[in-house]
Amino acid sequence: MTETWERFSELARELDDLSSAIKLLHWDQEVMMPRKGGPSRARALASLQAIAHKRLTDPELGDLLEGLSVDDSLALDQAASVRIMKRDYDKATKVPESLVRELAELEATSYQVWTQAKPANDFSMLHPYLSKMIDLKKQQADAIGWEKERYDALLDEFEPEMKTSEVESMFSELGEALIPLVDKIIDGAGECPEFVSREFDPQIQESFCRWLVRSLGYDMEAGRLDTSPHPFTMQVAPGDVRQTTRADAHGIMMSIYAAIHETGHALYEQNLPEAWAGMPVYQVPSLGLHESQSRLWENQIGRSRGFSNFIFRELRNRFPEQLSDVDEEIYYRGAIHPQRSLIRVTADEVTYNLHVGLRFELEVALFRDELDVQDLPGAWNEKMEHWLGIVPPSDTEGVLQDMHWSIGALGYFPTYSLGTMYGAAFYEKAKKDIPSLEDGLSDGRVEPLAEWLGEHVYSHAYLYPGPELGERILGEPLSPGPFIDYLRTKFGDAYNLSW
Ligand code: ZN
Repeated sequence: MTETWERFSELARELDDLSSAIKLLHWDQEVMMPRKGGPSRARALASLQAIAHKRLTDPELGDLLEGLSVDDSLALDQAASVRIMKRDYDKATKVPESLVRELAELEATSYQVWTQAKPANDFSMLHPYLSKMIDLKKQQADAIGWEKERYDALLDEFEPEMKTSEVESMFSELGEALIPLVDKIIDGAGECPEFVSREFDPQIQESFCRWLVRSLGYDMEAGRLDTSPHPFTMQVAPGDVRQTTRADAHGIMMSIYAAIHETGHALYEQNLPEAWAGMPVYQVPSLGLHESQSRLWENQIGRSRGFSNFIFRELRNRFPEQLSDVDEEIYYRGAIHPQRSLIRVTADEVTYNLHVGLRFELEVALFRDELDVQDLPGAWNEKMEHWLGIVPPSDTEGVLQDMHWSIGALGYFPTYSLGTMYGAAFYEKAKKDIPSLEDGLSDGRVEPLAEWLGEHVYSHAYLYPGPELGERILGEPLSPGPFIDYLRTKFGDAYNLSW
C-alpha cells in the first residue's frame, strides 16, 4: 500500500465521518428535535457543512487525487473510490463559493415561501424565487460544465453519467406505451374496495410495520424504525441505516407500502460490502438505482398476489374487526387499485410515471429556454390534460404540489422513473435466473430475491457508474420494456384484460 493511498484513505474516512455527523443532525432534526432547537441546529449544520467543504476542496486532496488517478496498481474498488472522490472534488472546486452560498440562502428562503404559496394557491408568490433559482442553477451548471446541454449537468448531480437525451427517449417510449394502457386498466379496475379508508389504530399500524420490515430482512440491530411526517431512509453510517414511517388512522395502505418502500432503500444500504465501509465506493451509485430497490420491493413484491396474501393474513390477525368482511382477493384489489389522480406522491404504480414525465418535460424546457417560469402553471395544466386526462382545479394541487423546485432539486424527478424502470428490469432478470422466485411469496419467503439482489446489485456498491452497473446486471442498456410488460401481465391478470 503506497503512502499516497494511505493518506488519501485517511482523508476520505475523515470526510465520511463528517458526513455521518451532518446526516445524524439532519435525522434528528426530522425525527426528534424540539421545534425551538431549529435556529441553533441550522447554524450547527451550516458550520459543519462549511468544514466539510473546506476539507473536500483542500489542495492536498487535489494533489493526491491527481497522483492516484494515474496509478494503475490500484485495485478495482480503490480506483473507484478515487474516481468518485475526484468527481466530487472537481465539482466542489469548480463552483465559486459565492454561488454556493447564494444558492444555499435562496434554497432556504424559497422553501419557506413555497410552504406559504402552496396553501395560499398563489404561484405569483413563488415566481420570483423560482426564476432566480433557475438562473442560479444555470450558472451552477455552466460552472461545472456540460457537453450537449445544460440539463445534463443537473441530471448528473443525481444520476451520474446519465444523459438528458437518453432519459428523454426512454420517457417518450414509456409515455406512448402508458397512455393507452392506463385507459384500459383504469376502465377495468372499477371502484376501489372500501376497506382501505376505514379507521385503523395508528399504534397497531406501527407495530405491524415493525413486523413487516423485519419480515423483509431489515436488520433492526443495524437500524431503527421511527415516525416522521414524510417517511424516509438514511444511512447515517455503516451499521446504522435508519428508516421512518407514518401511520394515519385512515391511511393503512400508505403506511404499509411506505414501510415496504423505505425498507427497499434500507436493504440496499445495509447490504453494501462491509470491507469498503467509510470509503467513497461504499455507496449507491445513483438515486435511480436506489429507487429501483424501493420500487421493486414495494410493487413487484409488496403488491404481488403472493406477498399481499402474506401481508393480509397478518394484518387480519391484528385488525380482526376492520377486516372481518375482507378476503385475500379484496385486499389485493385494494393494494393495486389504480386511478387518475392529481397528486404524484399518492399516485399508483400505473399512473405514477406520467406524473414524473410531465415534470421532466417542464424542467428540460426551462433549461432549454423554451419555457418561462411565469408560464409554468399553464404548461403544467396542459401536460396534465395530455398525460392524465385531468386538469387540476388549483395550483395547490398542480404546479405547487412538490417542494423539489423550491429547494433547487432540479434534475431529481426523472430518477423516480429511472428507478421504476430499473426495478422492473432487475425483477424480470431475477425471475429468469430463478424460475421459482415467486413460489414462496405467499408464505413471506423473500430470501431467494434478497440473495439475488445481494449478488447482482448490492455487492458492487459504486464500483461502476449507474448506467454501466445497470448494463452489467441486465446484459443490455436500460429500457422501459420490462416495466410495460410487467404492467400488462399484472393488471391483465387482475382485471381480465387482453392486450
Ligand atoms: Zn424512494
